[in-house]
Amino acid sequence: MIQLQKPKFVYMGGKLRSWDEATLHVGCEAVTRGLNVFEGIKGYWQPDGRFGVIKLRQHYERLRRSARLLHIPFEQTYDEYVKAIHDLLGTLLETDRDMWARTTLYVTEGYWGENTLADLVVTAYHQDKQIPDLINLGVSTWQRSADISLPARIKTSTNYQVGRLARIEGRARDCQDMVLLNQWGRVSEATGSCILMVREGIIYTPPATEGALESITVDIVEALAHSMGIKFIRRPVDRTELLVADEIAICGTLAEVTLVKSIEGLPLHKEPSILKALQNRYFQSVRGIEPHPFVELSCFQPKRVQA
Ligand code: PMP
Repeated sequence: MIQLQKPKFVYMGGKLRSWDEATLHVGCEAVTRGLNVFEGIKGYWQPDGRFGVIKLRQHYERLRRSARLLHIPFEQTYDEYVKAIHDLLGTLLETDRDMWARTTLYVTEGYWGENTLADLVVTAYHQDKQIPDLINLGVSTWQRSADISLPARIKTSTNYQVGRLARIEGRARDCQDMVLLNQWGRVSEATGSCILMVREGIIYTPPATEGALESITVDIVEALAHSMGIKFIRRPVDRTELLVADEIAICGTLAEVTLVKSIEGLPLHKEPSILKALQNRYFQSVRGIEPHPFVELSCFQPKRVQA
């Protein structure tokens, strides 16, 4: 489990530091107002012995957009961002285990938007190589906040408080993840991933304007679906459409493509054949077994790897 790991090093203040040294002051806005923006990124071992991080440029650009929307200065160039990630991952990597990393801009100086300064922090965690288990999905009573209050487009920690409440609610109903509806009562996304639904052979997903994050994985699965000859449509999705869907999956950098076995306690009535094929194609491409031109990997050769 990611949250129980305390890896030896963290990138903070422009260099690698020990886990215990990587702290923030109680007085800074990152702590008092939860002010940060972040990206969750994922890397996979490649067949040639290199390690590849997927879609780094897109994560960098989305981090920049989140920072801009919250008036947080983001000084690092793309090359500096990549170097910080490669340095940390290169130090922590273990043979045969993938890594998930979080790149966060924490606001360390400033007051109500004046004299704001931020520090880029990278933390990284090991993950076993495995296809995710099927999950039970519920629909939460908690709601995705509107663009006019806390925009889903900003990837900031405070946006995840409603997701946390939804997961607490879900746990009591044996659901591993929950769908958040938007202010119009339609599907927005899950707590840390987007929703894919299949009806009559077509994959549907709600667009970002329905309160979903501008997902990098949705862009990937859309490209994969197109090259597999599967129709992929972004349009609003009603709650009841999800309840009668043929197949459902959640998708995201960390969730990858995770198939759903039940929705609101009702087992899905079909084998998830289309989304299973998409899941297979996803893993083939991110693991470099059958590369896809849309799935760019930022690869590096680790210097020494821990057994
Ligand atoms: N929605 C939320 C709330 C998320 O946290 C994530 C994960 N970043 C996603 C959707 C999926 O986004 P991506 O595919 O870019 O990881």
